[in-house]
Amino acid sequence: MSAPSTDGPIRYEQPLPHVVRIVLARPDVRNAQDREMLYALDDAYSRAVRDSETRVVILAADGPDFSSGHDLTEAWDMNGVRPRTLTGGFDAPGAEGWFATEEELFTGLCLRWRDLPRPVIAQVQGRVIAGGLMLVWPCDLVVAAEDATFADPVGAFDVNGAEYFTHLWELGARRAKRFLFTGDPITAREAQAIGMVNDVVPAAELAQATLELAARIARRPPFGIRLAKRALNQGLDLQGQRASVEAAFGLHHLAHTHNRVLHDRIVDPSGVDVIRAPTPRHSSGSPES
Ligand code: ZN
Repeated sequence: MSAPSTDGPIRYEQPLPHVVRIVLARPDVRNAQDREMLYALDDAYSRAVRDSETRVVILAADGPDFSSGHDLTEAWDMNGVRPRTLTGGFDAPGAEGWFATEEELFTGLCLRWRDLPRPVIAQVQGRVIAGGLMLVWPCDLVVAAEDATFADPVGAFDVNGAEYFTHLWELGARRAKRFLFTGDPITAREAQAIGMVNDVVPAAELAQATLELAARIARRPPFGIRLAKRALNQGLDLQGQRASVEAAFGLHHLAHTHNRVLHDRIVDPSGVDVIRAPTPRHSSGSPES
């Protein structure tokens, strides 16, 4: 164990032997992701798995909301970036530059994180919106506070969904369609009922419950856990998950290019009004609504 260290938007902690906790530390902007945060998170994951003592990683977040998605105030300038994937051409004209940028920052990093050789537990409270899902879904386990909600409302902006498109596996086809077509959030309890979330606990107990789960896993021999994760992720690949993410990413960029032609922006700006429109009662489709 060692004292927590903060690397800008990410904090690195070791709350127990063999357990690393990585914390999103931009609560003032509801942990919106900018380029710096994504690379700091990638650095923290790299540090965790290169430490031979690490057996379990927790991904947590400061503040009331886990993540509000991409930071839309960010210019996403890639000057000086050393890519973590084998891509490039970030300044290329037309669709090429933005395709390369998102391939590196979003699908590329998410697929790297999904296959980390140690189990990762997402510790989730409050809202998880669009790009926020891309931090949670690559994790192996999800422990959620009772107040957690999950939503991908980007259909309002004339785009198919967040870039890491594993909605089919997380939600099932029928529910994924409603999730994307309406943008309605699902609750932690509903997410648990469909298998997207493992455990739901009172918000006050979230950190301790997640730590206890991590400690239980950390008591087991790490290579077996690593192989179990790999076997299951290979199964997802055999089901076509990785190919599906890459196929949907192509459609996502068709949408960005479409919006650039129509609006000179990567998304339809009228989506803000669509999202702010009042939602009727009984809108979530949740068993609890
Ligand atoms: Zn995008």
